Amino acid sequence: MSFLSQSERTFVDRLQCGPKRFEFSNWAGTFRCRPLLYLAPSTETEVIEIVRIARRHKLRVKPVGSGHSPSDIACTSSIMLNMDKMNRVIAHDAYACTLTVEAGVRLHDLHAMLQQRGMALSSVGSISEQSIAGAIATATHGTGMDYGDLSSMITQLVIIDGLGQRHVCDKGNQRDLFDAARCSLGALGIITQVTVQCEPSFTLHAVQTAENLDNILNNLSEVVYSAEHVRLWWFPHTDDAVVWRANRTTMEPKPSPETFFRDTLYGFHYYQLQLYKARFTPDDIPHLAREHFNRRFNRQIEWVDDSYKVFNFDCLFPQYVNEWAVPWESAAEALRQLRIWINAEARKPGGVRVHFPVEVRFVRETDVWLSPASGQTVCYIGIIMYRPYGKSVPYKKYWRVYEDIMRTLGGRPHWAKAHQMFYYDFVRLYPKFGDFVDMRAKCDPEGIFVNDYICRHLLPPSHPLTTAAVAESTEHGPQLTTENAKL
Ligand SMILES: Cc1cc2nc3c(=O)[nH]c(=O)nc-3n(C[C@H](O)[C@H](O)[C@H](O)COP(=O)(O)OP(=O)(O)OC[C@H]3O[C@@H](n4cnc5c(N)ncnc54)[C@H](O)[C@@H]3O)c2cc1C
Repeated sequence: MSFLSQSERTFVDRLQCGPKRFEFSNWAGTFRCRPLLYLAPSTETEVIEIVRIARRHKLRVKPVGSGHSPSDIACTSSIMLNMDKMNRVIAHDAYACTLTVEAGVRLHDLHAMLQQRGMALSSVGSISEQSIAGAIATATHGTGMDYGDLSSMITQLVIIDGLGQRHVCDKGNQRDLFDAARCSLGALGIITQVTVQCEPSFTLHAVQTAENLDNILNNLSEVVYSAEHVRLWWFPHTDDAVVWRANRTTMEPKPSPETFFRDTLYGFHYYQLQLYKARFTPDDIPHLAREHFNRRFNRQIEWVDDSYKVFNFDCLFPQYVNEWAVPWESAAEALRQLRIWINAEARKPGGVRVHFPVEVRFVRETDVWLSPASGQTVCYIGIIMYRPYGKSVPYKKYWRVYEDIMRTLGGRPHWAKAHQMFYYDFVRLYPKFGDFVDMRAKCDPEGIFVNDYICRHLLPPSHPLTTAAVAESTEHGPQLTTENAKL
């Protein structure tokens, strides 16, 4: 780091974390990068100093949460910030039912902080490993027609922009910055604090039933309102589905009926082994969907527990995932089109065979500019191909067809996931996209927070920063693992 001054080197050495040639990998092991510096600030002042050093030496900065995004959105070959030390509670307002925390707090710690104060998040996604800033950066969501995504639960935030300036914004103060920053993909600056709107802590009663997909799709508007939180899992290659419904309750806790044999040994370990074998015998995959549905899901189960424990579940092992949001009224059409294609492929020798489940969730419309639920209540449809023991499986043809269906129905991709949508698509899809791009230029005129993902998806192809990013990758070596193009 010979270009740093003596005092800069002392500062950087103090904040350095991880091994010397640290390699970042996302949770699924599908994207990697080697940052030049890997620093762990513990105060806002240190974050501001890092931005100043980056500007002085024309470096870039990328904060990372828990690295759970299944794309290169958090990757950089320049300075990566590990935000884990910024995990303290700043303020609690019992009257407003809000908690202000530093941005690196992981959701599982946030649940505990909230529970101690008699509060809880109104809706949570499948896991709680994410940091709060990482989760809102991509509009992470749970499910429920009357419940927004996590970005919509933020009532105030503090962000350090690309000039090292600190902004406090909320609905009454710098409103445009607030609406842009609540889902900003790390492109506007480093979020250091957030205030989260909560509700009094609650217990959820979940009931999971096996149902026929056609019955669900023919009565979707009833199904989505049949509980406060409704999630569907369709088992492709079959007409079977599982409907998970959860409501707030005063019932006594009754733990999840998961068993070691059925859910851990069979549902995790044996399933992984079966999927590994199916890499060589893909015609077994439809049979696996039927077998697992019948053995694990073809019955009614129910349980009662703290809200966040009921929202979360085991997402098993590494996977490729793709997830888009369509206007919720188009959900049945999207699933029918997907089923027609999957069934047609299943009839072809050597056709595509896909893993279960297809996950279907609902999110209330928000006023966050880049939330996929911006201005419309949406249905998220998620598809998956597991990577047993981290091994590759073919998925690209499935992804192409799925994305075509979602695109035709006005879909917007989940920002965290790898997708094929670019600047001109988003101009069409998001009424506020142009305002967001202007806000990015204002907050980060020198492109400190730009990485390959931001260049590829948020900037017009001719933007000077895109050319500069190519130069950066060349200088510091390739940023990403390239995935097998044949898959
Ligand atoms: C097993 C699994 C289950 C999942 N379940 C769901 C689900 O149920 N619902 C859903 O919507 N998504 C889900 N996701 C996706 C996940 O919620 C998102 O990818 C989320 O963004 C990850 O948060 P993170 O803390 O890991 O952020 P990272 O992946 O580390 O980073 C994501 C983005 O946040 C930015 N960022 C991080 N910290 C800051 C900061 N302090 N300031 C500014 N920007 C910052 C990064 O620069 C990057 O752009 C799941 C992912 C996995 C792997």
